[in-house]
Amino acid sequence: MVREQHKRLTVLGATGSIGQSTLDIVRRNPNKFDVIALTAYSRVEELAALAIEFAAELAVIGDATLLPDLKAALSGTGIESHAGEAGLIEAAERETDVVMAAIVGAAGLRPTMAAVRQGVTVALANKECLVCAGDLLMDEVKMHGATLLPVDSEHNAIFQVFDFDRARGVEKVILTASGGPFRGRSRDSLLNVTPQQAVAHPNWDMGAKISVDSATMMNKGLEVIEAYHLFPVEKAQIDVLVHPQSVIHSMVEYADGSVLAQLGSPDMRTPIAYSLAWPERMHVPVKRLSLSEIGSLTFEEPDLDAFRCLHLAKEALMNGGSAPAILNASNEVAVEAFLAGRLRFVDIAAVVSDTLSACDIKAPQSLSNVFEIDKMARREAARWLGVRTQ
Ligand code: NAD
Ligand code: MG
Repeated sequence: MVREQHKRLTVLGATGSIGQSTLDIVRRNPNKFDVIALTAYSRVEELAALAIEFAAELAVIGDATLLPDLKAALSGTGIESHAGEAGLIEAAERETDVVMAAIVGAAGLRPTMAAVRQGVTVALANKECLVCAGDLLMDEVKMHGATLLPVDSEHNAIFQVFDFDRARGVEKVILTASGGPFRGRSRDSLLNVTPQQAVAHPNWDMGAKISVDSATMMNKGLEVIEAYHLFPVEKAQIDVLVHPQSVIHSMVEYADGSVLAQLGSPDMRTPIAYSLAWPERMHVPVKRLSLSEIGSLTFEEPDLDAFRCLHLAKEALMNGGSAPAILNASNEVAVEAFLAGRLRFVDIAAVVSDTLSACDIKAPQSLSNVFEIDKMARREAARWLGVRTQ
C-alpha cells in the first residue's frame, strides 16, 4: 500500500544546482518518490552515479558525443541510456507524475514542452522557457491539462498567496530581489568586475548563468516576464522591490490594501519541496526562519541605471512579440562570453540592447519559429562580440 503513495519523478538537469537540491529531497524521502529518468548535459560520471543511486529507468546525456561513456558507466545496471535532444525529449515523455524542469536556458524549451504535452505536473525552474515562448507554453499547458508549478522562489511565493479564484482583487504582484553581489554600486564602479565576483551571490547558491543574471539583475527582468505568463495580471501590475535579506520571497497586494507574502530562509529546497509535495506539504530540513535573529528587513528601489538589464527586460515585456526571446538569447550569449572572460560585465547590457535594436520583434507563431528567432538573435549577438571585442 505504501508504494501507492510514491510519486514518479523525472529530473531534467539532474546535475545542476536545482537538480541536486531536488535529489537531496528525494534522498531524504525514499518512501515518497520513484525516480524515472535523469538528464545532464556533460557530467557523465555524476549522471551515471545518480541514475544508479536512485535506480532510474533512464539516463540521458545532452552531449551526444558522450553516449559511449554513459553506456560504459551504466553497463550491467539495466539502466537505459540515451543522448542528444531527442534523448532529452524521450526522458521528458517517459510516463511519470512530476517532471522537474531544471535545464538552464532556452535549451530546456523542447524537453519542457514535451513534459507539458504529457499533461503531468511540471515543476518549472527553467524560467528561460517562459521568457522565450511564454504564450505558446501556457497554451499547451491548458490544451494538455498539465499542472505548472513555479519553482523559482519568487513565483512559488506568489503562487502560494495568489487568490486565483478572485484574481480581480489583485492590484499588484511585487517581486522581491536581493540586488545581487553588486547592490549599491554605480555603473562606473562595475567596469572591471570579474566572473568570480559576479557569481559570488550573497544569499543564494546557484548555477553560474543565473548567478551572473542576478548580478546584472537580468534575472529579475526575466522573472518579471515569467510572472506575466504565470499569473493573470497585466504587465504594469508587476513591480520589483529590492530586499537584500531575501526573507520575503515575494508579495501580492490586494484591492483593500492587504499585502500577502511568503517568507522563509533563502534555500531552494523549500519551493522545490512545495512543488514536489503539492498540494500537500512535506518536511524539509531547511534552516527555520528566525526573524528575531535577523532583526530587520530592509527595502529599496532598484537602480535601473547601474542595472540596465532589468530595464531592458521590462521594456522587452512591454514591447512584446519576440522581444523577450531576443532578450533571452542575446543575454545567454553575452553571459557565456562574460564567464569566458571575453566580455566586460557592463557590456552584457550593451549586447542585449543592440541585439534587440537589430532584430525584428514580430511575434513567434510556433515553437519552430521561436527557435528561428533564438538562432537569429544568437547570431546577431555573436556578431556584436566579433566586431566589438577584437
Ligand atoms: P545549473 O547550471 O546548476 O544546472 C543546469 C542543468 O542543466 C545541469 O544539469 C546541466 O547539465 C543541464 N544543461 C545545461 N545545458 C544543457 C543543454 N544544452 N542541454 C541539456 N541540459 C543542459 O543551473 P541551475 O542553477 O540549477 O538552474 C537551472 C534553471 O533553474 C535555470 O533556468 C535557472 O534560471 C532556474 N533557477 C535556478 C535557481 C537556483 O537556485 N539555482 C533558482 C531559481 C530558478
Ligand atoms: Mg528567483
